[in-house]
Amino acid sequence: MHSSLISKIEKARLYAQERNRVTFQRFTVTFRGEHNTYTVTYDAGRWDCTCPFFRRHQTCSHSMALEHILGEMLTAPSPA
Ligand SMILES: [Zn+2]
Repeated sequence: MHSSLISKIEKARLYAQERNRVTFQRFTVTFRGEHNTYTVTYDAGRWDCTCPFFRRHQTCSHSMALEHILGEMLTAPSPA
């Protein structure tokens, strides 16, 4: 293997352990809940979810679970 590619692979391994280098700006996920499957989106600190609970409360177990998973890799909520 090309030596420069080997050094990139080694650097990638180090980067992968330093999650604070990565900040998610926006994404869409399919979330399989216990009873239904929902679409959760994230855009610059704002969540949306297609589940009924989110419609009423602007938060839900799905968005909260993703906050647990992604933690410091999420951007801070943007001011309203
Ligand atoms: Zn939800």
